[in-house]
Amino acid sequence: MENQTHIAATPEPARGSPAPVSTAVRVSFTTNQFPAWMNRHQTWLVSMVSIIALLALLCLGWTARTVQDRLVQSAGHSLVQAATDAASKFDMMILERYRDIQLLSTAPITHGQNPEMLTKYLRELVQAHPAYRWIGVTDSRGRIIAATNMSTTSLDRSQSHWFQLARTITGARILDVQVSDESGGTSAITVIAPLHGPDGQFLGAIAAVVGIPSLMQILDDTMQVLKNIEWTEESHIEYQLLNENGDLIADSALRQDGSLSSKQLGLPSGILMGINARGFLEETHLRRGASVITAYAQVTIAHADPTLRWNILIRVDRDSILAPIRSFLVKLSFVTVLIILPLLGLVVGMIKALHGEWGTAKREFERATDAEAALTKRTEALHTLVLAAQTFSAQQNLDGLLRQFFLLAKENTGARYAALEVYHDTSHNGTQFLTAGIDDAAAHAIRTLPLEQVAWESLGQEGCALRLAHLREHWAALGLPADYAPMTSFLGVSIRCQGQFFGRLFLANKLKPNGLANDFSELDEQVVLTLAAQAGTAIQNLQLLHESKEQARHDPLTELLNHSAILNALTQELSRAERNRHPVAVLIADLDHFKRVNDTYGHPVGDTVLRETAQRLRETARSYDHVGRVGGEEFLIIVPNCDLRELGECAERFRMAISDMPFDTPSGPLTITVSIGATVGFPEQPLSAELLRKMADYALYRVKSHGRNGIDIVPHPHILVTEQMKKTG
Ligand code: GH3
Ligand code: MG
Ligand code: MG
Repeated sequence: MENQTHIAATPEPARGSPAPVSTAVRVSFTTNQFPAWMNRHQTWLVSMVSIIALLALLCLGWTARTVQDRLVQSAGHSLVQAATDAASKFDMMILERYRDIQLLSTAPITHGQNPEMLTKYLRELVQAHPAYRWIGVTDSRGRIIAATNMSTTSLDRSQSHWFQLARTITGARILDVQVSDESGGTSAITVIAPLHGPDGQFLGAIAAVVGIPSLMQILDDTMQVLKNIEWTEESHIEYQLLNENGDLIADSALRQDGSLSSKQLGLPSGILMGINARGFLEETHLRRGASVITAYAQVTIAHADPTLRWNILIRVDRDSILAPIRSFLVKLSFVTVLIILPLLGLVVGMIKALHGEWGTAKREFERATDAEAALTKRTEALHTLVLAAQTFSAQQNLDGLLRQFFLLAKENTGARYAALEVYHDTSHNGTQFLTAGIDDAAAHAIRTLPLEQVAWESLGQEGCALRLAHLREHWAALGLPADYAPMTSFLGVSIRCQGQFFGRLFLANKLKPNGLANDFSELDEQVVLTLAAQAGTAIQNLQLLHESKEQARHDPLTELLNHSAILNALTQELSRAERNRHPVAVLIADLDHFKRVNDTYGHPVGDTVLRETAQRLRETARSYDHVGRVGGEEFLIIVPNCDLRELGECAERFRMAISDMPFDTPSGPLTITVSIGATVGFPEQPLSAELLRKMADYALYRVKSHGRNGIDIVPHPHILVTEQMKKTG
């Protein structure tokens, strides 16, 4: 055999002690659900933590966005407030300048036409209000008679726009921004007022130039306040002052007054502000590309003709506002990640630890389950053995016993196929082959199991089993086709008792309860060995019982049926004959003058003659005839299915068997003769065994009376009656 490892022949019966039953703690889950549960929950937990982390980040993002929106709102309102404040200051400052000039136009000092006094006054006014860049007073022809700047005194302004306008108006007026000669060629607004005499004649004009930088100063201050109160020095804030057409009057970025239009500067807010109810908007600074918040306020200068409507735009970079919160959020995100990552690690660690715990619990559970299953199996095996002991001992019938043994072994081991080979004689010829659950292929496979001689021999020994596993591989190792046999596992034992061999039990293809193939266990081997031992003992007991029963029915000297047994047989044959409607012949053979044999040659020679007689009668009888010894040298022969016609011949055959051949005895050959009386019982006229025997006896009597060594037949019972009547006279 190429692959010996698959052969599990055990030279000695296994004597395993019961496996210790684990006292492991019972857990309330089933092991086969465990891995799936764990995997599902591991994923679930990691997913949950990830989702929580994601939600936390989303919340953080949402909070950040809300805070940013609020900050933008707040910044927008602050800017609007600042722009509105600046606009009010503009209004106030320009109105004050307007009032100054209006007041001056009606003041006596102006009308006194005292240039020195006037100049002095004008200079004091400029010093008091630095917004003035220049103030001058002309005479009625346009010549400047007094001015804050000496170099402009005596200049002729009669052709200037403001002087021409002053001639036509009655009160003070504000002129739109223009490039003013008086302010040195820079942009400025000019406040003018005519001077009229008491009777209304035109005396001259006053012009005060208010420089744009002074307006910008108001906005610069506003910017500074914003930086100090709302944001920081680094915050990027700018402003623009635009006229009604969107032309730039002043720009903090350019730090100069200019003539660029908002469109040229790329400032959509200059146009959009008019339709924005909030007073501010978020936009992209077209020049710098930065995201900015732009607030708006209008400056209305009523004393101009037409009324001037200027726009103040104040911008702050979004980043400037959001920088602090952004840095805070970055820190918060960092902290969050720092918290979540260890948390995630903790969860994963916990899951792993849990997994380990589950693994231990699972193993414990499996161990406990295995131990419990083993205990259950052992208990079942014990029950089987107890049951077997009870049923085997109660069983009187060998066939029934064999079948019980066979089925108990099959059911207890879970074998799919079972076969029992029973030998009824010592030549080991299988006279019985019981099979269960087996098909032709499996029966053939069992009979032709290609095992080594040693394996078969081990199967033949008392208390030994042959247990084979992985038979499929075994077939392959032997070079047989994979489908050689349907057997996957095998367990065989011999049935023996006290050296006597009764047969072999083969079990094949153990199946698990779920129908899958399994190997026979050591417990199976033990159970089958014990069952086989019990069966062996029971078979032997039955045999002994059978023998003693047989002995009770037989005559010890001749081994023929004894008196009672042959009469029983006669009764049974008569009933059967009646059922089957056939006749039964009854013969009584009596040796002639046997007493003389004893007397002449001794009792032992007589015994030899008796044994030889019995032998000859047995040999002459057919297989279904019965021969019994009913007296010392008197024999009763039952011949079923023999009618009157055949009876003479039959009786004669028996007579010849004795009388025609001398008996070989220690005292030499002896010629012994026999007398045979016979009769027949017919089913049409059933007669009792007793009567038939009497009839045969009478026939025998007649033979003896007529000289012996012959046969006679009494066919009817009425002959007996006639004879009786004769005797009684
Ligand atoms: P008959 O021809 O009239 O039958 O004469 P018989 O001598 O055979 O008949 P009888 O009944 O007178 O004698 C029977 C003898 O058989 C008597 C007895 O000694 C002998 N006998 C009976 N049983 C046995 C036995 O078991 N062994 C031997 N050796 N002799 C026996
Ligand atoms: Mg006799
Ligand atoms: Mg006799």
